[in-house]
Amino acid sequence: MAGPTPGFSRRTLFRGTAAGIAVVGGGLAVATPAHASNFYNPFAGRPISDGWQAHLNRGSLGGIDYPMPVGTNLPACGGGSIQNIPNNGTGGHTVTIHHPNGYRSQYMHLSAFVLGNGAVVGAGVVVGRSGGAAGAPGSGSSTGPHVHWHMINPSGQRINPLDYLAGLGGGGRLPKTSTAQDGIPGTIFWKRAQNWLRIEAGYTGPIDGVPGVNTYAAMQRELRDHHGYTGPIDGVPGPNTWAALQRLAARYGYTGPIDGVMGPNSWRGVARFLNEDRWD
Ligand SMILES: [Zn+2]
Repeated sequence: MAGPTPGFSRRTLFRGTAAGIAVVGGGLAVATPAHASNFYNPFAGRPISDGWQAHLNRGSLGGIDYPMPVGTNLPACGGGSIQNIPNNGTGGHTVTIHHPNGYRSQYMHLSAFVLGNGAVVGAGVVVGRSGGAAGAPGSGSSTGPHVHWHMINPSGQRINPLDYLAGLGGGGRLPKTSTAQDGIPGTIFWKRAQNWLRIEAGYTGPIDGVPGVNTYAAMQRELRDHHGYTGPIDGVPGPNTWAALQRLAARYGYTGPIDGVMGPNSWRGVARFLNEDRWD
């Protein structure tokens, strides 16, 4: 979809781009949050129109293209600090995430930036909106709505993000939660819950396993839409919120009372739901 611009060498353009990043990046104070970057594939489950090899075959330095409607939220594939690069050659509007471990991720052909330069984000936070419609501002050379994603290693080489995630173990997918066995919700349980709510209920906060008001509000929206929750969407779960979550758990083997008091068996039921592959 993002073919080279006629009359220009894509490689030459990229060299210019890379030099620009180096200059700007040299002046950036890259944040180093104490927590891990929590890499994952925010586009898992979406079809790929052009994979890594297809990019190389047409002279690109590589990337993965995921078609999606213009304006789709683009979550960070890992934590880091934000650098917006408007009109970045054939890449068009490009957001770079500078990860604390020296790697960078870039999303290209954006229709909108949503954060300021230097903003520090956790994995899963929306860092831009997709674009790519032919001729639209920010599309660069793209000829159809999609996001282009690649990573850059600390040596400055472009790398395949899917290979990188695979190398981390688990293919960048979230591990299953042991809450299904021990009945105690922990960090992995809540990461999976946040990913469920990101996919289903418009949650745009970090996938950090630490539920806050935004996580709970998204959960209330989801429970309202599918599990009969009728209370406020205030991000403060009370007995009515938990009772609705128990109704969800009841679809996954929970046979206890719907009393708004979460016990180990209630959490186990929710965990069996969250452990479905679709929330990895
Ligand atoms: Zn591409």
